[in-house]
Amino acid sequence: MATDAPASPVLEVRGMEVAYGAIQAVQGIDLTVGAGELVCLIGANGAGKTTTLNAIAGLLPLAGGEIRFLGEPVHSLPAHKRLRRGIALVPEGRGIFTRLTVEENLRMGAYTRPDKQEVEAGLARVYAMLPRIRERLTQVAGTLSGGEQQMLAIGRALLSHPKLLLLDEPSMGLAPLVVEKIFEVIQTVASEGVTVLLVEQNAHLALEFARRGYVMESGRITLAGSGADLLADPKVRAAYLGE
Ligand code: ATP
Repeated sequence: MATDAPASPVLEVRGMEVAYGAIQAVQGIDLTVGAGELVCLIGANGAGKTTTLNAIAGLLPLAGGEIRFLGEPVHSLPAHKRLRRGIALVPEGRGIFTRLTVEENLRMGAYTRPDKQEVEAGLARVYAMLPRIRERLTQVAGTLSGGEQQMLAIGRALLSHPKLLLLDEPSMGLAPLVVEKIFEVIQTVASEGVTVLLVEQNAHLALEFARRGYVMESGRITLAGSGADLLADPKVRAAYLGE
């Protein structure tokens, strides 16, 4: 399997297994994400994509294998320590605090950052990247549209100053035009040097935006390659692009 592995990996997952009791959701996968890359993980419902991201973020224990971040093993660290090292997750369903204001949500994302000046600089950076969010700072987050909530979830994650941003299904439930906006934001984040691993059901869009991609089926990685190669692959086209 050609993986086209990057020279300076930020994330290296080797032989990772994750189980829910007797259910082996992830069955020994390898994946690598290099510095500054935007990499996507696609696959059908139940393939194990969310489980993979949650395990990398430290929300689920491994049943086998290892996770290295910037060359160091992190699979035994709890989630908050991985966050401090620079692994941030935007979870499926966004996980925003619906009763808090937009600004309060953003500031929650900075709870690992003790330096006030750094937090204000982070907020300024997020406001510049997400002007729609800046316009709604005093609004209760639960009243935002789905697309705005997704932008807020990304902004909140950026306030932890991640080196690796894990995004779980950012397009879920959003209209096509809104999805395009979200992907533009993701590309801006990546272009500012944040490494991104993206899980997506919208395979076409994900492969167009990502430099490389992995295809997951029933807990295993079955294909890997450049976004362009996967987009052209007849198996991918038949299974995920409806052709
Ligand atoms: P989706 O796009 O539907 O979220 P996915 O590729 O992200 O799919 P996962 O959610 O990681 O897949 O699920 C992988 C497998 O693990 C599925 O068989 C699912 O039923 C099972 N699974 C997921 N969460 C749990 C859980 N909390 N307890 C038991 N089994 C689970």
